[in-house]
Amino acid sequence: MPTFSKFITSQRGAQQILDSDGYIYSRKKSGDTALTSTWRCAKYNPPTKCKCHIYLALADNSLTLGTQPHNHSADGSVPARQEVLLSLKRKAADQPLSATQNLISETLADTAAEVNQTLPNLESLARVVQRSRASSSGSAQHAEATTSEDFILPSTCTSTRRDEPFVLYDGKTDRELMVVVNYFEKTYLGSVTVDSEVRVTPAFPSDFWNHFDRVLEDPDFPRTSNMVEGFHRGFKTRVNRPKPSVQEYVRAVKEEQVMTDFHLDRLSVGKTPSKRRRTCHTHLHDICSFYSTYPSKIDYVFAVAKYFGNDIE
Ligand SMILES: [Zn+2]
Repeated sequence: MPTFSKFITSQRGAQQILDSDGYIYSRKKSGDTALTSTWRCAKYNPPTKCKCHIYLALADNSLTLGTQPHNHSADGSVPARQEVLLSLKRKAADQPLSATQNLISETLADTAAEVNQTLPNLESLARVVQRSRASSSGSAQHAEATTSEDFILPSTCTSTRRDEPFVLYDGKTDRELMVVVNYFEKTYLGSVTVDSEVRVTPAFPSDFWNHFDRVLEDPDFPRTSNMVEGFHRGFKTRVNRPKPSVQEYVRAVKEEQVMTDFHLDRLSVGKTPSKRRRTCHTHLHDICSFYSTYPSKIDYVFAVAKYFGNDIE
């Protein structure tokens, strides 16, 4: 017969009971008597659909088991996992200016390897931080737009603190866009000279940035150094200033090691990193292999643009 162990807090902030066997119960809204409150197994939802109930005596916190037994074994890692996620949420709401990476490594600093193995991946943890912030700052509604057309800049972004207009241009006028187009042409293609059809050699000629051959060879090979930049940016936020002392640098490296251990703990039980890093670019490979069959170069460019999510009419 299990006994009352302690009250714990669910990921959503609701009170739950942990019993001495490691099972968790949520409060049931009905069925209370003057002397007891009614709780049901936290796994009452599909797919488990456990029907086990317990009754908590208000006088001395003693437990009485209902007639239905649990139809599953207890997952001892749940309370620790919930505690980590809850503490991350609280940190996110309390420290709106701290970098997400820092909050996560701060939270994971003392977690055991067994807890790390059950936690969601790093991207999901970052989303926990972002969602917690969005709901505490009231900006969640702006995150709902799925296309750039739907997205409307909130007034907090378009005016200064003195309520003067801040964003002067948020539209599709060609004249303004030509600045970007001209810059692109000059830097990556070379401007056309006035008296001839020849382009001036640009700062970054096409054989420097063109990935056509590389995509044909291995479409999944990274075409940018974005993931390295991401690492550098994340590491920079750990140091806070351009020229850290040796002590500060060592502390930052140790914090980084927390994340490495986190990944290793998860890899050791067969959990791969995020889905995003496993994207497959065979379709892009197809577009490149059919380069010569497109009616015109611009059709080919449109096909590539469409692949990257830019539907140009
Ligand atoms: Zn159960």
